[in-house]
Amino acid sequence: MASAESVPSAAILARGRQRYLAATARPSPAQRHATTARDMRLDCGRALLEMVLPQHQELSFQEVSQMVEKISSNLRLQMDGNGKEGKGRYLVARCALKAGEVIVSERPIFEGNTDAQKSEKIYSEAFLEKLQATPDMEDDVDDCFHPRSPLMDCVAAVLLSKQLVDEKSASADIREKAVLNLQKFCSLCRSPVQSTTDYNECVEDLWGALKPELQEITSREELGHVLQILSCNRFGHGGQSVQLMFAGSMFEHSCLPNCFLGTACTASPNADGPQTYRALRDIEEGEVLSIDYLNFPLGYCSMTARAEAFQKWGFTCSCPRCVELPEVERSFNCAECGEPDLCPCRPGSSVLQCLSCKKVADVSYAARCLEREAQLQREPASPARKVGEESDDENLLGHRHHLVVHALWEDVEAGLPDSKELPAFQQMLEVLIESVSSASRLEEHPALLNLYHLAALSTQDDLETQKHYLQLEHRIMQRFFPEEAQRQDDEIMSLVKCNAPLKPTEAGLGGMD
Ligand SMILES: [Zn+2]
Ligand SMILES: [Zn+2]
Repeated sequence: MASAESVPSAAILARGRQRYLAATARPSPAQRHATTARDMRLDCGRALLEMVLPQHQELSFQEVSQMVEKISSNLRLQMDGNGKEGKGRYLVARCALKAGEVIVSERPIFEGNTDAQKSEKIYSEAFLEKLQATPDMEDDVDDCFHPRSPLMDCVAAVLLSKQLVDEKSASADIREKAVLNLQKFCSLCRSPVQSTTDYNECVEDLWGALKPELQEITSREELGHVLQILSCNRFGHGGQSVQLMFAGSMFEHSCLPNCFLGTACTASPNADGPQTYRALRDIEEGEVLSIDYLNFPLGYCSMTARAEAFQKWGFTCSCPRCVELPEVERSFNCAECGEPDLCPCRPGSSVLQCLSCKKVADVSYAARCLEREAQLQREPASPARKVGEESDDENLLGHRHHLVVHALWEDVEAGLPDSKELPAFQQMLEVLIESVSSASRLEEHPALLNLYHLAALSTQDDLETQKHYLQLEHRIMQRFFPEEAQRQDDEIMSLVKCNAPLKPTEAGLGGMD
């Protein structure tokens, strides 16, 4: 991960809904435990509640929607089908919303992170020895069988809440809150998902790691349900934390979403603080609300790759980017006009059409493009290096092709280079900026905040260009994080007032004497 230093507003990307199995799409190959069962269906909520809170009622759809509407008056929960078929529960806008408007801001019901504070309370001494054995593993514990894994810490949070419900010494308030959180937890959706790893093995590992007194208040079956809810609904921040949201879990997915999750803060996000979902564009009353579970750059890939990721979560995406729009993430250089705008006319199509000159590539050129793409996918030999460089290979991939963009993204994440490489760095940023806009079909997108910021940092020797990027950065800030933009403006104003204007006044007063 890039340091907060080199990528000041990395937090903005927030990594969205980093669901458990998305892990397979991410680069770090840390040992992972898949937590999803093949045959568990949506209706296991009741079964779970009977185990977790035997003396409490399952929340009805009415109760769930009332709770959601209490969290935000912008939201309405709707139901399609009976919960087992159809698309189930989904959120719609109760009123028209402006881009950047906060739709809902809520604290996680449960969260886990790498400090292992909750893990330390429920896992056995033997298991906690891992904390001593691998003190420097923090960066790699995401989803690992390790007390510092945010996922395991989050499981601990759920079990601690369950323990609290029967804790006679706890106040009624605290016990009531624990009951409510567990009821909310049990009401979250689970989708039937496929898993390649042995799910039962995960449960067995977890069970074996529990302190004996914790084993008494739970069961293997219950742990299975808990893991499944976590895997279907988790949000995360770069492998450092896992959050389980209530209203936030009910956003639909779209690769062309109308909402996003994120903050403008430059420090690392506060895992148990409120999570804020905002409008990505103007939204009409009654519109279905969606976020992108993958986010940029993860979702910037071929439709086929996204479909594979979604299949693991048990759904297929039918957004315009997945079914009808030209696949701009697979752009080639047009042989007719030379622009890098030749792309499959629909997702997955082998007919390549240029978005600039509208010409359809002839069959043999299209075949060469697709062959080159397939070849680079088999042996990813840094396609970015090929862009604009002399090479024996024909230069077929356009600079917005996802293979190029991901290579560039890695370079940019490494932070600012030496001054002699700054011009190349700026070019990379320009490509990434273009890519975000073309895939999202939005000129202004929160992911651009970070890119414009880096562009401004990299142009310190050219004040005009730097000013241009700072203005663009500020415009994104104003659109998507108006409160933060206001705060920054106020801060600058007060600095100006404190420093510059004082001198003439002092001089004037001095002159009076
Ligand atoms: Zn889609
Ligand atoms: Zn063309």
